[in-house]
Amino acid sequence: MDKKALPGIYPLKGAIQNYAWGGYEYIPELIGIDNVEQEPHAEYWVGVHPRGRAQIKVNGEWQHLDEYTRLPYLLKILDVRKMLSIQSHPNKQQAEIGYAKENEMGIPLDAKHRIFKDDNHKPELMMAIGDFWLLHGFKSIEDIRRTIQETTEFSSLLPHLDGGLKDFYSYLLNMSQGEVTATLTSLKMRLMAEEPTDKNHPDYWAYHAFQDYGFDKGIFSIYFYNLVYLSHGQGIYQEAGVPHAYLGGKNVEIMANSDNVFRAGLTPKHVDIEALLSHLVWEPVTPKIIEPDDLGDYEQAYFSPATEFELHMIYQSDGDTHYLQSSTDECYLLMEGEVIVESGDQRVHLQQGECLYATPDIALSIVSVEDSKLIRATLPKKG
Ligand SMILES: [Zn+2]
Repeated sequence: MDKKALPGIYPLKGAIQNYAWGGYEYIPELIGIDNVEQEPHAEYWVGVHPRGRAQIKVNGEWQHLDEYTRLPYLLKILDVRKMLSIQSHPNKQQAEIGYAKENEMGIPLDAKHRIFKDDNHKPELMMAIGDFWLLHGFKSIEDIRRTIQETTEFSSLLPHLDGGLKDFYSYLLNMSQGEVTATLTSLKMRLMAEEPTDKNHPDYWAYHAFQDYGFDKGIFSIYFYNLVYLSHGQGIYQEAGVPHAYLGGKNVEIMANSDNVFRAGLTPKHVDIEALLSHLVWEPVTPKIIEPDDLGDYEQAYFSPATEFELHMIYQSDGDTHYLQSSTDECYLLMEGEVIVESGDQRVHLQQGECLYATPDIALSIVSVEDSKLIRATLPKKG
């Protein structure tokens, strides 16, 4: 960071991530590009993470945003076509220790087996765009017991529950591939015959996981984590140490600026069971669905405990004008419609999929030219 942006508003553009689980149409359509090569477009990042740096237009030239500022958050759009890996994230202290240790060991940052990509934690919050399904946190022991009783193929697992959650889950993830295959074979046969279609039942997601990943031990997690459905506009927050996996749908995600992920299956990426197990919080989780709070006529906020970000949505009808003050380095992404943003004598016209960066403590007016949905990434108000 060596340059200084004059107070004001700047056109901003993010970075695409072509991970294999991504969809082909949603993100290209949103940001207005042709997906000629038919590549998966999994994520669109707006932030300063070195693995996907956003750019701002200064005096007519695109320049990396991280040359001007450090953003504490990373904003993303995700299009989940195939379920994501079972994962969790470290807390701040664990990330600092882990990152330093891997540096000391001389593991290159881009090595496949590198676990800590940076020294930051990664609390994350998501808002569903349309219907969304995810796995979020362990079920209670009683719920796991009920699931095993309902899923008779798992009956051999019942005695392992007696030692509690940690014993049970460690047992599952440390099974040999032979044991995994033996435990999952009759389940797979039933699901292949049934072809389940109910997305609110684990069988549906297990059926697809078998097709994508074979006898993967991640399939157990589909049954023993909470399966959560979010309708359009609902949110959920993932704290450090809470295991989770996105199953299907599209969302807006905001997180602390980090790429630290422990994976435990359902992925072609590096899996590290030890790292995951040693950083999990061994508590059952009751999913808390976040409904947004109204802030005035046009704006809504998704509140969470994170200090690195706050996600707002601005909904305007054709002709509405919304006045606001940026409280920090803010990023905006227009999901739908068309708006004109003004600050002092600056003016930026945003079409669907375009982004804007605003420096801290400036006044903005946002005029919608059509019905519009605008994402605002900001920080919680202090005090
Ligand atoms: Zn995550």
